Amino acid sequence: MKVTAPRAGNLWVALRAALDQLGVEYVEPPRPTQRTLNLGARYSPEWMCVPFKIVLGNFIEAIELGADTVVMAEGINLCRLGYFAKLHEQILHDIGYPHVKMLRFSWQEKIIGLVKFLRGVLGEDLSWREIVGYIKYGLQQIIVMEDLEKRAHRLRPRAVNPEAVSRLWQQAGPRVSAAHTAPRLKAVAKAIHAELDRVELKPGFEPLRVAFLGEFMMVLEPSYNMDLEEELGKRGVEVVRHSWIAEWAKIWLFLELIGLGHGDDFKKAARPYLRRDVSGEAMQTLGETVLHAQEGFDGIIHIQPFTCMPEIMAQNIMPRVVSDHPIPVLPLLVDEQTGRAGLITRLEAFVDLMERRRVLKRRGTGSQRGVV
Ligand code: SF4
Repeated sequence: MKVTAPRAGNLWVALRAALDQLGVEYVEPPRPTQRTLNLGARYSPEWMCVPFKIVLGNFIEAIELGADTVVMAEGINLCRLGYFAKLHEQILHDIGYPHVKMLRFSWQEKIIGLVKFLRGVLGEDLSWREIVGYIKYGLQQIIVMEDLEKRAHRLRPRAVNPEAVSRLWQQAGPRVSAAHTAPRLKAVAKAIHAELDRVELKPGFEPLRVAFLGEFMMVLEPSYNMDLEEELGKRGVEVVRHSWIAEWAKIWLFLELIGLGHGDDFKKAARPYLRRDVSGEAMQTLGETVLHAQEGFDGIIHIQPFTCMPEIMAQNIMPRVVSDHPIPVLPLLVDEQTGRAGLITRLEAFVDLMERRRVLKRRGTGSQRGVV
């Protein structure tokens, strides 16, 4: 069995480490490129959202590299995510890969769904103790990677040489996934943090602070958003985001299972503008915009895939939100035609706007109205 899964942030690190330990071959899907999106778009219904197309293209690329088993999350949802797995499976079989097996993990069954899924992959005789061990091990890998990534986001805008931070971050994944025991993982994390400690910083530099909000996959996976966080970091902007796999796992595998709520702060902040959850990250996008405006952030970047229902709703409500809670918002709509150069130009213009606004604010002059 040669297993692959969609590229989603640091998930590949945990998958590679866990499957290596189990002796299962993992085919790492290539980093998505324009070819990936073109492949996915060629075989997808035209109206499907961009994440559907990129995931499909990425599956095809991994199959070309030898993968014969595809892992995908599924669940009942108001948006299209609920039927991604079923449609991907049908399309892959129709376009000439009938041998490819789709293993589905139902995230709405919480930890029970994950256990069922792992037993399906690794054998029914797997004990609870072994399963809990694998889940814990995978989560530890992801937590280490996400801590390092958050640190890279803080350091990059403050570093004399932001490229040095990016280099260390790019080397982190292979080093972390090669750490096959908890003590080894701890040692590797400590070593990488020590290397980050040695990055030279610009004295007294205060970066602009931007919250990166929008659809989960577009925020989580740098290849989907054209390395937006890195590009902003190089331009002296610190990016803060709330979409992390460890956080998602904590909420969906554990908190929801025991009936504990989550996200009360952003839900309360969004409530005057959106009374019910319309799926995806719409409520979080609106609520976090309110909260970050109140915290004095310099701007919001709102990323949305073309034809994404929840984010289209959020975008239409956004002008009301920023008229009550003034903050500049850059809406970025991503589709098959979106090019890197155009995106960078828009980011640079947005950084200029935020800098100018900060200068005027410090002088106590100029309008501080919200802008979308
Ligand atoms: S949230 Fe939007 S982009 Fe993401 S799966 Fe749902 S419809 Fe597609």
